[in-house]
This record gives sequence, structure tokens and C-alpha cells, in this order.
Amino acid sequence: MKYIFVTGGVVSSLGKGLAAASIGTLLEHRGLKTLMQKFDPYLNVDPGTMSPYQHGEVYVLDDGAETDLDLGHYERFTSGVLSRMNNLTSGQVFDSVIKKERRGEYLGKTVQFIPHVTDEIKLRLHKVTTDNPEVDVLITEIGGTVGDMEGLLFIEALRQFALEVGKENVCFIHVTLLPFIKAAGEIKTKPTQQSVAKLRELGIQPDIIICRTEADLDEDNRKKIAMFCNVEKKNVVAFRDVAHSIYECPLDLRRDKIDRLVVDKIGLGDTPAPALEDWERFVQRVIHPLHKVTIAVAGKYIELQDAYKSIYESLIHAGAHHDTKVHIVRVEAEAIEDHGAAAVIGDVDGILVPGGFGDRGIEGKILAAKYARENKIPYFGICLGMQIATIEFARNVCGLKKANSTEFEKATEHPVICLQEEQKGIEDMGATMRLGSCESIVFAGTKAAELYNGADRIHERHRHRYEFNSDYQEQLTDAGLVISSVSADEGLVEIVEIPDHPFYLGAQFHPEFQSKPNHPHPLFAGFVAAALAKANS
Ligand code: GLN
Repeated sequence: MKYIFVTGGVVSSLGKGLAAASIGTLLEHRGLKTLMQKFDPYLNVDPGTMSPYQHGEVYVLDDGAETDLDLGHYERFTSGVLSRMNNLTSGQVFDSVIKKERRGEYLGKTVQFIPHVTDEIKLRLHKVTTDNPEVDVLITEIGGTVGDMEGLLFIEALRQFALEVGKENVCFIHVTLLPFIKAAGEIKTKPTQQSVAKLRELGIQPDIIICRTEADLDEDNRKKIAMFCNVEKKNVVAFRDVAHSIYECPLDLRRDKIDRLVVDKIGLGDTPAPALEDWERFVQRVIHPLHKVTIAVAGKYIELQDAYKSIYESLIHAGAHHDTKVHIVRVEAEAIEDHGAAAVIGDVDGILVPGGFGDRGIEGKILAAKYARENKIPYFGICLGMQIATIEFARNVCGLKKANSTEFEKATEHPVICLQEEQKGIEDMGATMRLGSCESIVFAGTKAAELYNGADRIHERHRHRYEFNSDYQEQLTDAGLVISSVSADEGLVEIVEIPDHPFYLGAQFHPEFQSKPNHPHPLFAGFVAAALAKANS
């Protein structure tokens, strides 16, 4: 196996994850089998317990791992299906070292940062290598910024690892920022020089430097960076601000032939240039769509760019599929409580209520669902959004005025959404939800069956604690709610829908974790199609 390590310098939010994912895209299009992973230096075991304000979206994998949102980019930009082995945090590293120490596995030795902690990090690299013999290139992004104290052990582990597997099998890529100083009218290379100097101090000489720039990178600056960072000029690569879509990133990096530089470094230079026509076609459909729809997303973290990342991306994929620009109106659910759905949401072609936790904004989301149901506006509820649709239906169609979820009102008279027995005694918050992919049955003749193209078995990823309460199933279905999918093992309700409506569907799972640029998720595709029909009507 060959290895690419992507570090970042100068500042965070450089698009390092997108750079790494884009390299994955380009290498895959050269016919190489790639696998991507992220090392995060923070002490949480996983981001599952972090607030979206801290961390943005928690991305869930098939195996139920709650991971960094960069893994979402990886799965969208490459075809690799990732597992919990592909996101390592300092929390996991230390947890494992301390457990080994308690078991006496260090045989009386003093347990130290070096070698024991760094060995633990290298162990993960070796394990992923042996577990995935079919993979040609493993791409590992190191979270944080070089120079952060908490990243030091990861950098040291990579330095050692490169020596052990042979430097010819490793490519170090450093992503930095070239700030443009308006007053001087100049790009500045000094922060890049200093960041690379820091990396070299730690024993790593980057092979390629990716420079994030607003403007183009001229020859003089390339020369300067090459000279002072000790790399060849051709290995100084520009990564410009893309104009329209993150899916342009691989195409932008291709301008300086980054994939060629990488394969030359790791001895895979005999692979053909990437055939990117499919990717380019997708990007063209994203940038120059024929149609347009407006979709309101009514949530609680609406002001955060990253909180519903995969949902926004899935809407883009589905939009491109229908040659449609999806214009997203971000609606603060609490505002609906104050001013009413009609005033806040207004005239849109679809309403989406995403996942969420806690009771802030819940009543506003219920009003949004009611507004969609009554005005025949396409509605798509995801996880919490499905629970919201159920509560709204129970209250306003079934007449169970006090219906609620026990998450929001413990002693509610009508707990249409509640905890399953096995969730009741749980005290630990981390990794204890219903997590990951499970098989569900889709019932023929339903909207869901139509959208899934007649498939009667589906696999979707979950992340929730509360469930549709089966005690209310008969009452709700008698009143017209259709249960169109249940889990294959326990018969838990997975999808609810309402007939006689252009599109009114709630899914207990998270379809947004399985949508890809040229393969939109069928539920998103169906939702956007319904929105488009409304827009055109
Ligand atoms: N809070 C709800 C639950 O735990 C929904 C979770 C979600 O939307 N991801 O069941």
C-alpha cells in the first residue's frame, strides 16, 4: 500500500478535507483503489457527544461509527465505504493505551508518549493496511493545524511510519493559506514558509504544498515558495476559491496536475490520466441547471454552515439529477413559533425538517409540518423530522391534542414517539443511540416503494434514541397515516407517509449519508421531483 498524509498549516477551515477528498477523486479516476481516513487530535473518543456548534454535523457510517464530517466528503468524493477504523481521535488513542496499561500489557515499562502513544497511532495505520489488502492508496488527513500542541504526537507517528514503510511509498502534502493583502495588492507567502518550517522542525519535509488562494498563483510566488519550503516548483500547487460548487475542487486541483505529482512520488506513475467526464458533467449540471426550486429547511442550527452539511449536499445531488438548482431557505424553527409558518416560510416548493435533539424549536417544526400537509407542499422529514410529522398527524388529524415525544415531554398523555425498553436504562451518552445501517422492509404499493424503485429491502443509516410508539400504530394508520417501511429485525417504524399529498414522507433514518454526486438518494430525488412539479404547476 502507498500512503498520502495531508496536513494543514496557517489557519483552520482551509478546505483541507476537501483537498484530501479531491485527491481521492482524482486518484480513483486514474483507476486506483483509494481509502480515506481522518486523524483528529481532540480528546473526545468520537464527535458523537459534541454540539453542532462545536463540530458541525456528526457523520454516521454503515457500522454506526459517529465521525467527523470530513468523512462525509470522503464518501461523497470517492466510492470507498468507510468504517470506524477510518476516524481515529486522540481520545481513542489514549483510551486504548490506558486500557492496555491497566491490563499489564506494557510488562512493567513506564508508559510514555513516545513510543507508546505514537505506536498506538501507527498500529491503526498498520491495521487499516492489513484489513484492506485491495487498496492501492490510503489517504489520511490530519485534523488541526501544524504547530498545535495536540497534533504533535500524530505528526511524530507519521514521521516514524514513513521511515518504517519507506519514504518512496509515502507522499506528504501540506495545505496552507496564501493570504491576499488588499492594501498591498499582494499575495503573502510568509505564513506558508513558516508553517512548512514548523513541519520540517518536526522532521517532515512536505513533498507537495497546496496553496489555498483567492487569486491565481503567479510564477514568482511559486518560485519563492519552492525555494523557501525546499520543494520543486512544480510541486507547489494552487487551490483556488471555487466559484460555484465544492465539486469543482478536484477539477481545480487537476489544473496543476496534483494527481500526477502524487503518483510520481509514490511510484504509481504508470496509471493513466484521470477520465473525469462523468464528474465534469455532474459539475456542469450543478452550475448551469435548467430549473429552479426553493426548499425551506426548518431547523435549530440553521445559522451554522456545517450543521446539516450532508442534507445540503444531498439536495445538490438530487437537484443535479433533475437539472435543477435547489435554492435553500434556511428557516429558524423558533421563528415559526413566534410569527407562524405562513409568514416565516411563505411560498416555497418544499419543506424539509432535518434531524435534531432537544426541545428548542420543536413546536415551530410541528407548525412547519402542518403547513406543508395542509397546503400540499412537499414535505420531507428526516429522523426528528419524521417524528415531528408523526406528532403533527397525531395532534391535528387523529385529535390526540396532547401527542408528543417523551424526549420533549416526559409525562406526555400521548407518547406517540418514545424510548424503546432497551434505551431506558442507558446512562452513557456516547455511542449508545440506535446507530448505523440496518435492513428495513418496504411495503409494496407505497410512495416509498415507488421511490426505491420497487425494492422491498433497503439499508439505511440511523442515529436516534426515540422511536415511533407501536401502541399508537393502529390509531394513526386508521386515520390515514401510512407506514411504508419497518425494520427487518424488530419491526420498528422506518418510514411514514401520507397519501393524497404530492409528497409527504418522514424517514426515521438518515438518507443524507448515502447520497453521492452521480447517485442521488432516491428519497431526495423524489422530494426534489415533487418540489419541481409544484414549482412548474
Ligand atoms: N432526537 C431524536 C431521537 O433521538 C431524533 C434524532 C435525530 O434526528 N438524529 O430519536
